[in-house]
Amino acid sequence: MIIDIHGHYTTEPQALHAFRDKQLAGLADAARKPTSTDLGISDEVLAKSVEPQLRLQKERGADLTIFSPRAAGMAHHIGTEAVSMQWTTICNDLIHRICKLLPDNFVGVGQLPQHPGAAPKNCIAELERMVRELGFVGVNLNPDPSGGYWTDPPLTDRHWYPIYEKLCELEVPAMIHVSSSCNPNFHGTGAHYINADTTAFMQLIQGDLFKDFPRLKFVIPHGGGAVPFHWGRYRGLAQEMKRPPLPEHLLKNVFFDTCVYHLPGIELMARVIPVDNILFASEMLGAVKGVDPETGHNYDDTKRYIDQVKHLNDDSRRKIFEGNARRVYPRLDALLRKRKGKPRCRSGPTRASSRSSRKWSRRTCRTAWSGSTPAGRSCARCTRKASSPGRRSR
Ligand SMILES: [Zn+2]
Repeated sequence: MIIDIHGHYTTEPQALHAFRDKQLAGLADAARKPTSTDLGISDEVLAKSVEPQLRLQKERGADLTIFSPRAAGMAHHIGTEAVSMQWTTICNDLIHRICKLLPDNFVGVGQLPQHPGAAPKNCIAELERMVRELGFVGVNLNPDPSGGYWTDPPLTDRHWYPIYEKLCELEVPAMIHVSSSCNPNFHGTGAHYINADTTAFMQLIQGDLFKDFPRLKFVIPHGGGAVPFHWGRYRGLAQEMKRPPLPEHLLKNVFFDTCVYHLPGIELMARVIPVDNILFASEMLGAVKGVDPETGHNYDDTKRYIDQVKHLNDDSRRKIFEGNARRVYPRLDALLRKRKGKPRCRSGPTRASSRSSRKWSRRTCRTAWSGSTPAGRSCARCTRKASSPGRRSR
């Protein structure tokens, strides 16, 4: 199984953007606030909106994407804490609906209602909701809600502890992921993201966070920023600071993804970072959209790079593509174990898209059968008769 642990919902329906525009307009003029949080987005529109992701999963060979709201869209620095709360709930709910419609393709990760200077404990209710009610397997934690000015304390500060306590209790990891930059010095994707990844790792070296939270897990995305390339620098700094060696100090708790976008970068990463700490990811769609003229392939077609690294054996690739994700995201592992062996209706949008005459209820159906014994029963959602386990119904 190929699990892409880092995908964002960047193909949202226009209705979501229209809501956000009104929400922000309402900050200056209360009369322009949206009158309802019901966006009026149908299941059909939602499923259609992720067809590009489904097509690329199929073309590139990924099975499942851990899917979260658009990172730049979180924009925790805009408006007020209440605005962030309302926006977060809406964005997380959309991810939940997509994951319910297409559970074979997407598993949810949420954003938090952060705001510069606001107490992280104010995020706990939404964190609980997204995990316990929406079934999300992780969360994106913004280490700089100010959007490029770093006005909140470092990640190792007790300021953040309420979130860490809840993450450990819920057994979900946090991806350390900033949002858009409002500091003109830092381009969002090219500088702010990479700065934040590197900064987070250095903060963790300086602190002792995992002594207090030995079960806490962080994923540092975008290949860990500058960290793998400067691994010697960080080892040396840790040594100078009398910190334990990095594998002991951080690598039981910190993981990196493969959103690096070129083969030499992945080769270096796979030599420097233990294979147990590398998780497959593409961050599609949208981080770097183009085609690399040197290879003729999309920069974010990251599976190709891992396939090409000569010094990785099959066992290492299995860890990067699946095993590590299931270890770092225990709720994902539990979900996949629960599904294993359960026959599923395969009449999903990918197979059925050419048969447009089918009713929507049949095209969307990817859910489990209505009963625990499938033989002779009907699919809960499309009334299709169950076939024997392991066989696709037609
Ligand atoms: Zn991202």
